[in-house]
Amino acid sequence: MLDDDDLCRRCNAIDFDTIFLQDVTEKIGSFVADVGRITREGLTATCPFCRFMAHVVFSCPGTDASQEDVEFSLRAFSSAKSIGHIINRRNSQFMPKIENTAVLGLVKAEKSNSQKPQLLSHEILKQWGYICPTALPSRSVHPRVLGRGIKSDAIDYELIKSWVQFCTNCHVKTCRILDDSCTPPCRLIDCSTRKVVEAPKNCQYVAMSYVWGIKEKDARNYLVCTETGLLPKHLPAVIEDAMTVVRSLDLQYLWVDRYCIVQNDDTDVLKHMGIMDLIYNHAHMTIIAAASSDPSFGLPGVGNRPRIPQPCASVKGHVLVSTLPDPQDMVKRSKWMERAWV
Ligand SMILES: [Zn+2]
Ligand SMILES: [Zn+2]
Repeated sequence: MLDDDDLCRRCNAIDFDTIFLQDVTEKIGSFVADVGRITREGLTATCPFCRFMAHVVFSCPGTDASQEDVEFSLRAFSSAKSIGHIINRRNSQFMPKIENTAVLGLVKAEKSNSQKPQLLSHEILKQWGYICPTALPSRSVHPRVLGRGIKSDAIDYELIKSWVQFCTNCHVKTCRILDDSCTPPCRLIDCSTRKVVEAPKNCQYVAMSYVWGIKEKDARNYLVCTETGLLPKHLPAVIEDAMTVVRSLDLQYLWVDRYCIVQNDDTDVLKHMGIMDLIYNHAHMTIIAAASSDPSFGLPGVGNRPRIPQPCASVKGHVLVSTLPDPQDMVKRSKWMERAWV
């Protein structure tokens, strides 16, 4: 957390209280301040807001030195219009009316007045996300879009449970099981005993989708003990972490192709190829390991590997966080996306 004391003159002149509570109507947002070039040196600036902006830009994977030649402006955008479009039609009907406030975005100065509004918003979300306060004084009964602080070494499992609950309650048509007359005939890992078992009838299980990695084509490395069903002692971190997620969500079963299909039995492999869609469709939820193509990388935030730290600063009484780039975009660019199936 960066703190408040040494704001530079430019940042000290920004009236955050008024800006965040305003109802921005212009699609291209309203001008807040010229920021100029943001360089890596800014990461150690004395002014906490300048430092924060440098963290916002440079903490994102893929930000290169070419960004250092760009002149930036800080603009305020309508929270409903800038982030609201992420709430797609499937979800909007279930969302409460929100009170519109403002979020901040860093945009290239030369474009900020001429860019097409949708492109501008897309660019901010794709590159480093918006800057949001984590709290605002309430003016109406409606909820507002606020930033959420993210711990790099912990996952908020209660939040994930609430998302799954939302899906179960609301996506009755879109996320339903296509044929619920039969559970796909499969084996599952019982995460409490570390044994591979026959799937109990109509049980809830989590499916796993990840990239096998190049070095791991030898089937002997992932054979389950035929007598006890016990998993090998040493598992790739991504599987070990997925089991932790299942237990933390108060669930029991995990489906992972590597262990739930007998890899040296061609008949079993072929049989499962034919019902892969059913296995994912019947899953209560699916963990997508898109952060790396290496199974030893694990799931960031679950095991030993932390997530990329979220830029955060305390400025004039506001705790500001970066929304970080749109995760859908990062998933689209990942190695995982190149798989033959999900
Ligand atoms: Zn400053
Ligand atoms: Zn759903």
